[in-house]
Amino acid sequence: MGIQAWELRGAGAAPRTVSAASASGALEAAPAPDAEPGTAPVAGLDWEALRERVAHCSLCELHATRTQTVFGVGDRAAELMVVGEAPGADEDRQGEPFVGRAGKLLNEMLLAIGLQRPQVYIANILKCRPPNNRDPQPGEVACCEPFLQRQVELVRPRVMLALGRVAAHNLLKTQDSLTRLRGRDHCYGDGRIPVVVTYHPAYLLRSPQDKRKAWQDLLRARGLLTGAAESP
Ligand code: URA
Repeated sequence: MGIQAWELRGAGAAPRTVSAASASGALEAAPAPDAEPGTAPVAGLDWEALRERVAHCSLCELHATRTQTVFGVGDRAAELMVVGEAPGADEDRQGEPFVGRAGKLLNEMLLAIGLQRPQVYIANILKCRPPNNRDPQPGEVACCEPFLQRQVELVRPRVMLALGRVAAHNLLKTQDSLTRLRGRDHCYGDGRIPVVVTYHPAYLLRSPQDKRKAWQDLLRARGLLTGAAESP
């Protein structure tokens, strides 16, 4: 079955222009204070220092099997931050999140709410590919978590979109099923950034009958972005 194009329905949401701030890592680097043992010290790091820290990370065993780290991509001042699970084989090869078939569908999902891929920021829970695409292990997530937290601090998105169970569980610190998490209000971190939970595009490729429900989730995200829906 081919991938259906996602079309914007209802009020036209013109694509936002890519922010000039996207090219700059606006924050100055500051000395990193001591971090928890076994976690990455990232406090105060600017974009380039953070990227370097990720590129040389060997905190967990995944560094031994990766081709390269997959940091994140997109507008560093994006209003929407998309969070996936972990790099797959294509991402590990190319060093960019969501570049395979799931990435193509993600791009279509974003377009459906009027956003071009370069207008959002895309990152993963893990920066390195787990062998054979197995689920991330808790220790790996713990090592990688400060990197994503710092990315969120730097981007300061208005809304976050969690793609699939692994992203939702780790962002929201819950084990609830995706069924329970979808369609509900959630917040991330001290900044209480609204989080919308939806299906992972790789799941939607296998289960296209759930695209309709994903569309509802995307509308929820768009409502939060446009102010049509109230933040939780
Ligand atoms: N799946 C993910 O969760 N992230 C990627 O970057 C690619 C596939």
